[in-house]
Amino acid sequence: MDLAGRYPNLHVSRHPLVAHKLALLRDRATEPKLFRELVRELSWLLGYEAMADLTTQPITVETPLEPTAGAELEPKVGLVPVLRAGLGMVDAMLELMPSAEVWHIGLYRDERSLKPVEYYNKLPDAATVQVCLILDPMLATGGSSSATVDILKHWGAARIKQVSLIAAPEGVATLSAAHPDVDIHVAAVDRALNERGYIVPGLGDAGDRQFGTFAGPSSEPGHASGDEAAEVVRRLQRTLSGEE
Ligand code: URA
Repeated sequence: MDLAGRYPNLHVSRHPLVAHKLALLRDRATEPKLFRELVRELSWLLGYEAMADLTTQPITVETPLEPTAGAELEPKVGLVPVLRAGLGMVDAMLELMPSAEVWHIGLYRDERSLKPVEYYNKLPDAATVQVCLILDPMLATGGSSSATVDILKHWGAARIKQVSLIAAPEGVATLSAAHPDVDIHVAAVDRALNERGYIVPGLGDAGDRQFGTFAGPSSEPGHASGDEAAEVVRRLQRTLSGEE
């Protein structure tokens, strides 16, 4: 069974504009300026699809001619960009929903264990929104996403969606197993994770490509690999194939 059949919470965009822009985004020759523009445009298109089931309540609007029936978004929505790569997705979402609140969560992925480490979280005690959209361009191991959903559920968010540009099958499996109620909206699901936890074919490091922070060949995806990271990836892959 394909992934979409296996995970009913997974939504892969079929829009031709998304496919076109994603190919440009993947291209290693795409410079940070264009890369940021494409992240923004893809976020807009995926956000539009991800918000298709938000509830509305009926209102009456006065046109210059007469009153008519209209609709108003019901839930309060929170955008939760995962620092730092998720930042590039915020502006497009705010264009779609200017009244959304933006709550930042800082998680980085320990390069050896591939486990998420939280370093920034200023959420107030009780949830101020009902629907949260987690914004993270790459759904790789699913570790950061699952940790972010844990944080948001504990906070009291009633509904949570993940919006990413590219997912790895391993990330979809991990997030769906931990939180089957979380819808995942992506432009593509790629082949696999490599031994460093990068999505292949992917697009490289989404943070570095947006912000131009390339520190040389040793920081390139797939260059050096740690035994621990490779073992984590192998375990995820065994779980995905049903061996564990
Ligand atoms: N984060 C990235 O930026 N790229 C990947 O391929 C995986 C995680």
